[in-house]
Amino acid sequence: MNRTYIKDLAAKAGETVKIAGWVDVRRDHGKLIFIDLRDMSGKVQMVALPNHEEAHAITGTLRSEWVIDVKGIVNKRPEKMVNDKEPNGAIEVEITEVKILNEAVTPVFEINDDGREVNEETRLTNRYLDLRRSRMQKNLRMRHKVVRFFRNYLSDRDFAEIETPILTKSTPEGARDFIVPSRLYNGKFYALPQSPQQYKQLLMAGGMERYFQIAKCLRDEDTRGDRQPEFTQLDLEMSFAEQKDVMNIIEEMLIETVKVLYPQKKIQQIPFPILTHKEAMEKYNSDKPDLREDKNNPDLLAFCWVVDFPFFEKTDKGGWTFTHNPFSSPKTEHMEMLMNKESIGEILTTQYDIALNGYEAGGGSIRNHKSEALEKVFEIMGFEKDKIWQDFGHMLKAFSSGTPPHGGIALGLDRLIMILQNEPNIREVIAFPKTGDARDPMMDSPSEISKEQLVELGIQIKNPLK
Ligand code: ASP
Repeated sequence: MNRTYIKDLAAKAGETVKIAGWVDVRRDHGKLIFIDLRDMSGKVQMVALPNHEEAHAITGTLRSEWVIDVKGIVNKRPEKMVNDKEPNGAIEVEITEVKILNEAVTPVFEINDDGREVNEETRLTNRYLDLRRSRMQKNLRMRHKVVRFFRNYLSDRDFAEIETPILTKSTPEGARDFIVPSRLYNGKFYALPQSPQQYKQLLMAGGMERYFQIAKCLRDEDTRGDRQPEFTQLDLEMSFAEQKDVMNIIEEMLIETVKVLYPQKKIQQIPFPILTHKEAMEKYNSDKPDLREDKNNPDLLAFCWVVDFPFFEKTDKGGWTFTHNPFSSPKTEHMEMLMNKESIGEILTTQYDIALNGYEAGGGSIRNHKSEALEKVFEIMGFEKDKIWQDFGHMLKAFSSGTPPHGGIALGLDRLIMILQNEPNIREVIAFPKTGDARDPMMDSPSEISKEQLVELGIQIKNPLK
């Protein structure tokens, strides 16, 4: 007999079915033993009656979180026992056969509540248990639906999903790189990507024209607030595109996503309002303003674009650095200022950020696709010519070989899902997040490696942790 998912039982009243899952709750009334069974699709109440002797005896031994396989009859509940609030509230499965597939030690916390009271270290140490709760199941399944929607939406518009390397070279994106030592080239290191920025631009040089990726980004920053050392972006780049082309694709995709997957939510303003950085700072004192008219309404989504950011800002040492992305192009009317390296503080970039309910939801820009212009950016930042060629020679060469104008954007996927799911932090929508201080207490990572591994890598630890 094929297994039926619990969500499909309601339509099978009167039939004999086979179901499987976890014991959610057991209520033993002696003669009648009730088991709530849970699978990935839902929950159902089952009952073991004394007339099915063997099944009744085995059911009596079951405990929470044991994994079982059941044959039973789907019965309609008597009128006064119907529970309208539960999807399976009108039925009950009468157990005729039960098989224990695996026993479970007593779980360290309750699975059948939302888990908000449980200490996070404990939740993350036992994440496989924590993921069983219906809140986490919903979060991850909705995350999948959003990702699938994005994939289909972009694929239908001729974007190709292309993977870019995880072992790469250090990039100047503002954060510290995670470093991977090379065994074959002792003393040399790969860097993990802070984003696929350079590769996606090189894909444009490579004639791919429309790229996207659900990309892992890794930044070794001191953990502050709701950050993760690794997070996921919907990353996108397109050739022959202007600011409005990239913004339109993303805006329409977000509107459609909400319409199809979150019909209960309301987008406050369509088209999304566009503010200049100056307006946003003057009016809201934030470059990711919260424009919600009613901040108590959990189903209100206030998207807005912020544009016209300064390209450069002063460093502590009195030099210049980029505010967002060194690969961005200045606004067309400011290109001359960049090329002449004059009025540097007044040069505005083509950067566009998208904010949602006071959070930064993403950002991107039109890029500098001419090598002379990109070189100027690094010159303004005080890089010597040799250093520019050493670090970015591949980009400059690519741009001198017929790279079309291009631009792109990245959306922070974790944050977006967090807001859509009304969760307070991104760890609730990531299957295996790190703790606030960058550890995985379940796997016990980071961890030491063996002496042999260190020797192979040519690495000596100066101050080993005790
Ligand atoms: N690479 C940028 C970021 O990670 C996004 C972009 O400009 O496309 O923020």
